[in-house]
Amino acid sequence: MKTIGIIGGGQLGLMIIEQAHLLGARTICLDPAEDAPAFALSDEHIVGRFDDPQALEELCRRSDVVTYEFENVPGDLLVSLEKKYNIKQGFKPLFDSQDRLREKSNARDHGLQTPAFEAVDDAESLRRAVERIGYPCVLKTRTLGYDGHGQAVLRSTADLPKGEALLSVPCILEEFIPFDFEASVVLVADERQVICFPVGQNIHKDGILDLCIVPAAMDESLRERMMEQSKRFMRDCGYRGILAIEYFVKGEEIYFNEMAPRPHNSGHWTIEGATTNQFRELCRYLLDEPLEEPRLVAPTVMKNILGQDLERAKALAAENLPDVYVHIYGKTVSKPKRKMGHVTFVGMTGEEYRTKWADEFVK
Ligand code: AMP
Repeated sequence: MKTIGIIGGGQLGLMIIEQAHLLGARTICLDPAEDAPAFALSDEHIVGRFDDPQALEELCRRSDVVTYEFENVPGDLLVSLEKKYNIKQGFKPLFDSQDRLREKSNARDHGLQTPAFEAVDDAESLRRAVERIGYPCVLKTRTLGYDGHGQAVLRSTADLPKGEALLSVPCILEEFIPFDFEASVVLVADERQVICFPVGQNIHKDGILDLCIVPAAMDESLRERMMEQSKRFMRDCGYRGILAIEYFVKGEEIYFNEMAPRPHNSGHWTIEGATTNQFRELCRYLLDEPLEEPRLVAPTVMKNILGQDLERAKALAAENLPDVYVHIYGKTVSKPKRKMGHVTFVGMTGEEYRTKWADEFVK
C-alpha cells in the first residue's frame, strides 16, 4: 500500500485524502495548525511549519510520493528534497506560479495571451508603467497575494497613492481587462496524456470565488480553444500532475490570469458533477495509475460556503435533498469570508440557481 504525503492540511488536503483512500492509498499530512481539517482524515500527520526543513523531510521520508496543496512552500527547501524524494510534480510548476511576474512571463512565452504587464518596484517605476499601460490598471504584489488581497485597481492619478501603499514589496502592474466573465480549467497530465475538466464559469464576490457554473456559457469553439490551448501550454511547459488555469474572457479573446499547480476551488464541482474528479485524477497520477478523461454528468453549480453561510449550509445538509451535495470542511473556527465548505447542485443551471437558491445565502 502506497503512502501519499501532502504538504498542507486545509480543505484541499482533506479532499485529496478522501480520494486517496478510495483508491486504496494511505496518507500523511503536514500542517502547522494542530486542528488542520485534513488531520481528521489522514492516516498520520505531522504538526510543523512549511518552512521547517526537518518537518518537510520527515513528511518525505514517511511517504512514497509527495504532493502539495499549499503554494508557498519555500523553493530552496523543496528543490533539495526533490533530489532525494519522490515529489512527483516537482518544484517547477510551483516555482513558475509563485511570482506573478514570472507566472505571466512564462504564460506569454508559451503562447498564451495575457493582459499587458510591467514589473513595478517603486513610485517612479509605477508612474512609468502607468504611462505605458494606461488607466484603468491593476497593481498586484508579485508574491503571496490571494483572493484579491494585495491588489489595487487604479482608475486615475488620484489612485496612485493607493498603489504606492502596496510598494513595500515588488509588484506587477497589469492592464485592466473589462472581461465578460472569468473561467477556469483544471488539467491533469502524466507522461502519456493531458486530461482536461470541463470549463467552469467563475463568479467572485469581494475577491473570493462565490459560484462556479458548469458548463460556462460560451461558444463551443471558444471553449474548445480554451481547453486545447491549456493542454498545449501544460505539455509545452513540461508540467506533470495537476494544474488549474484561470482566464478572463472578453468577446473572442482569452486572457491568462493565473495558475495553480494544485487542486482548485473552481474544480470542487467535479466531485459530483463529473464522471471523475480533480482530486481523484491527481491521486491516480501520484499512484502511477492511468488517468481517466472526465465528462460532465449534468449542468452543475458550486456555491462556496463562507463563515456567514455556514449555518444555512449545515441546515441544508440535514435536509438531504437529491442532487444537492453539502461539504463542510470541519474547520474549528468559523469567520465571515473564511471558506468553511461548499455545496454542489448537480442538474442545475446558473439561471435555475439564481431563481431557486441565490436568496438562501447571504448576499
Ligand atoms: P487575482 O488574484 O489575480 O486572481 O485577482 C483577483 C480578481 O481581481 C480576479 O478574479 C478578477 O476579478 C480581478 N482582476 C485581477 N486582475 C485583473 C485584470 N487585469 N483585469 C480585470 N480584473 C482583474
